[in-house]
Amino acid sequence: MDTPPSRSLPDPNADSSSPRFIADAMLGKLARWLRILGYDTRYDARADDHELVRLARAEGRILLTRDRDLARRRGVDCLFIEDEEVEAQLLQVMRDVTLSTARAFSRCVVCNEPLQPVDKAEIRNRVPPYVYRTQERFALCHGCARVYWPATHWQRMRERLATLELGAGLALDHQGDHQERSHR
Ligand SMILES: [Zn+2]
Repeated sequence: MDTPPSRSLPDPNADSSSPRFIADAMLGKLARWLRILGYDTRYDARADDHELVRLARAEGRILLTRDRDLARRRGVDCLFIEDEEVEAQLLQVMRDVTLSTARAFSRCVVCNEPLQPVDKAEIRNRVPPYVYRTQERFALCHGCARVYWPATHWQRMRERLATLELGAGLALDHQGDHQERSHR
Protein backbone atom coordinates (compact mmCIF):
# COMPACT_ATOMS: atom_id res chain seq x y z
CA MET A 1 0.00 0.00 0.00
CA ASP A 2 1.03 3.63 -0.18
CA THR A 3 1.19 4.26 3.52
CA PRO A 4 4.01 6.73 4.13
CA PRO A 5 6.45 5.79 6.89
CA SER A 6 5.57 8.90 8.87
CA ARG A 7 2.26 7.29 9.73
CA SER A 8 3.76 4.70 12.00
CA LEU A 9 2.92 4.91 15.67
CA PRO A 10 5.23 3.93 18.47
CA ASP A 11 4.47 0.36 19.53
CA PRO A 12 3.37 0.54 23.16
CA ASN A 13 4.30 -3.12 23.62
CA ALA A 14 7.72 -2.87 21.98
CA ASP A 15 9.65 -2.79 25.22
CA SER A 16 8.86 -5.92 27.20
CA SER A 17 10.69 -4.52 30.24
CA SER A 18 8.28 -1.61 30.33
CA PRO A 19 6.29 -1.68 33.60
CA ARG A 20 2.67 -2.73 33.43
CA PHE A 21 0.03 -1.73 35.90
CA ILE A 22 -3.29 -2.61 37.43
CA ALA A 23 -5.19 0.15 39.18
CA ASP A 24 -7.78 -0.23 41.95
CA ALA A 25 -11.32 1.15 41.70
CA MET A 26 -10.30 4.54 43.15
CA LEU A 27 -7.77 5.18 40.41
CA GLY A 28 -9.68 5.25 37.13
CA LYS A 29 -8.37 8.66 36.11
CA LEU A 30 -4.80 7.67 36.87
CA ALA A 31 -5.27 4.53 34.77
CA ARG A 32 -6.33 6.68 31.80
CA TRP A 33 -3.29 8.88 32.16
CA LEU A 34 -0.97 5.90 32.27
CA ARG A 35 -2.60 4.65 29.06
CA ILE A 36 -2.09 8.08 27.49
CA LEU A 37 1.60 7.64 28.26
CA GLY A 38 1.42 4.26 26.51
CA TYR A 39 1.62 2.03 29.59
CA ASP A 40 -0.40 -1.16 29.68
CA THR A 41 -2.79 -0.49 32.57
CA ARG A 42 -5.64 -2.73 33.58
CA TYR A 43 -8.61 -1.08 35.22
CA ASP A 44 -11.91 -2.61 36.18
CA ALA A 45 -13.86 -0.73 38.86
CA ARG A 46 -15.69 -3.95 39.78
CA ALA A 47 -12.56 -5.98 40.57
CA ASP A 48 -12.25 -6.78 44.28
CA ASP A 49 -8.98 -6.93 46.23
CA HIS A 50 -8.59 -10.65 45.66
CA GLU A 51 -8.96 -10.24 41.90
CA LEU A 52 -6.58 -7.26 41.79
CA VAL A 53 -3.89 -9.20 43.62
CA ARG A 54 -4.47 -12.31 41.51
CA LEU A 55 -4.13 -10.39 38.23
CA ALA A 56 -1.14 -8.37 39.41
CA ARG A 57 0.67 -11.60 40.30
CA ALA A 58 -0.41 -13.59 37.26
CA GLU A 59 0.49 -10.85 34.78
CA GLY A 60 3.47 -9.28 36.55
CA ARG A 61 1.74 -5.94 37.03
CA ILE A 62 2.40 -3.26 39.60
CA LEU A 63 -0.73 -2.84 41.70
CA LEU A 64 -1.59 0.81 42.20
CA THR A 65 -3.87 1.35 45.17
CA ARG A 66 -5.21 3.97 47.58
CA ASP A 67 -5.81 1.23 50.16
CA ARG A 68 -3.00 1.01 52.71
CA ASP A 69 -3.90 -2.50 53.79
CA LEU A 70 -3.94 -3.73 50.24
CA ALA A 71 -0.60 -2.02 49.57
CA ARG A 72 0.94 -4.11 52.38
CA ARG A 73 0.04 -7.44 50.78
CA ARG A 74 2.99 -9.72 50.41
CA GLY A 75 4.01 -11.38 47.21
CA VAL A 76 2.69 -8.65 44.97
CA ASP A 77 4.39 -5.52 43.69
CA CYS A 78 2.29 -2.65 45.13
CA LEU A 79 2.55 1.09 45.04
CA PHE A 80 0.47 2.98 47.57
CA ILE A 81 -0.81 6.15 45.90
CA GLU A 82 -0.59 9.00 48.35
CA ASP A 83 -2.63 11.79 46.84
CA GLU A 84 -6.33 12.10 45.95
CA GLU A 85 -5.65 14.37 43.01
CA VAL A 86 -4.82 12.72 39.70
CA GLU A 87 -1.97 14.98 38.61
CA ALA A 88 -0.14 14.41 41.87
CA GLN A 89 -0.85 10.69 41.53
CA LEU A 90 0.69 10.61 38.07
CA LEU A 91 3.72 12.53 39.23
CA GLN A 92 4.17 10.03 42.05
CA VAL A 93 4.08 7.07 39.64
CA MET A 94 6.42 8.83 37.20
CA ARG A 95 8.83 9.45 40.05
CA ASP A 96 8.61 6.10 41.84
CA VAL A 97 8.52 3.82 38.79
CA THR A 98 10.55 6.01 36.41
CA LEU A 99 8.26 6.39 33.43
CA SER A 100 9.10 7.83 30.04
CA THR A 101 6.90 9.60 27.51
CA ALA A 102 8.46 7.84 24.51
CA ARG A 103 5.32 5.91 23.66
CA ALA A 104 2.71 8.46 24.64
CA PHE A 105 -0.48 8.55 22.54
CA SER A 106 -0.07 5.00 21.25
CA ARG A 107 -2.72 3.25 23.36
CA CYS A 108 -6.48 3.58 23.69
CA VAL A 109 -7.31 5.48 26.87
CA VAL A 110 -10.66 3.72 27.18
CA CYS A 111 -9.81 0.06 26.73
CA ASN A 112 -6.00 -0.13 26.95
CA GLU A 113 -5.46 -1.63 23.48
CA PRO A 114 -2.54 -0.44 21.30
CA LEU A 115 -3.66 1.92 18.52
CA GLN A 116 -3.05 1.19 14.85
CA PRO A 117 -2.55 3.83 12.15
CA VAL A 118 -5.46 3.72 9.73
CA ASP A 119 -5.96 5.02 6.19
CA LYS A 120 -8.03 8.14 6.11
CA ALA A 121 -10.46 6.65 3.59
CA GLU A 122 -11.32 3.81 5.96
CA ILE A 123 -12.72 6.05 8.64
CA ARG A 124 -14.46 8.54 6.40
CA ASN A 125 -17.92 7.83 7.79
CA ARG A 126 -16.77 7.53 11.35
CA VAL A 127 -15.54 11.06 12.03
CA PRO A 128 -17.26 14.45 11.67
CA PRO A 129 -16.93 15.97 8.15
CA TYR A 130 -14.90 18.90 9.43
CA VAL A 131 -12.42 16.56 11.05
CA TYR A 132 -12.18 14.51 7.88
CA ARG A 133 -11.45 17.62 5.84
CA THR A 134 -8.89 19.11 8.17
CA GLN A 135 -7.01 16.12 9.58
CA GLU A 136 -4.65 13.78 7.76
CA ARG A 137 -3.60 11.25 10.34
CA PHE A 138 -5.86 8.90 12.21
CA ALA A 139 -5.41 5.93 14.48
CA LEU A 140 -7.87 3.20 15.32
CA CYS A 141 -8.45 1.11 18.41
CA HIS A 142 -9.37 -2.42 17.41
CA GLY A 143 -10.67 -3.06 20.92
CA CYS A 144 -13.47 -0.48 21.00
CA ALA A 145 -13.33 0.90 17.42
CA ARG A 146 -12.69 4.47 18.56
CA VAL A 147 -10.92 6.69 16.05
CA TYR A 148 -8.24 9.04 17.31
CA TRP A 149 -6.78 12.08 15.65
CA PRO A 150 -4.30 14.60 16.96
CA ALA A 151 -6.15 17.88 17.16
CA THR A 152 -8.96 16.93 19.47
CA HIS A 153 -8.40 13.99 21.74
CA TRP A 154 -4.81 14.64 22.41
CA GLN A 155 -4.13 18.33 22.31
CA ARG A 156 -5.38 19.15 25.78
CA MET A 157 -3.76 16.03 27.14
CA ARG A 158 -0.45 17.15 25.66
CA GLU A 159 -0.79 20.48 27.34
CA ARG A 160 -1.51 18.89 30.68
CA LEU A 161 1.34 16.43 30.23
CA ALA A 162 3.71 19.27 29.41
CA THR A 163 2.70 20.98 32.63
CA LEU A 164 3.25 17.81 34.61
CA GLU A 165 6.59 17.16 33.02
CA LEU A 166 7.84 20.57 33.97
CA GLY A 167 7.04 19.58 37.51
CA ALA A 168 8.76 16.23 37.14
CA GLY A 169 11.77 17.69 35.36
CA LEU A 170 11.15 15.54 32.31
CA ALA A 171 11.12 16.49 28.66
CA LEU A 172 8.46 15.34 26.26
CA ASP A 173 10.78 13.34 24.05
CA HIS A 174 8.34 11.76 21.63
CA GLN A 175 8.09 13.55 18.30
CA GLY A 176 5.57 11.21 16.69
CA ASP A 177 2.78 11.87 14.27
CA HIS A 178 0.13 12.59 16.71
CA GLN A 179 1.88 15.48 18.28
CA GLU A 180 3.32 17.43 15.45
CA ARG A 181 0.79 20.20 15.62
CA SER A 182 2.28 22.63 18.05
CA HIS A 183 -0.13 24.26 20.45
CA ARG A 184 2.18 27.19 21.00
ZN1 LIG B 1 -10.31 1.23 22.67
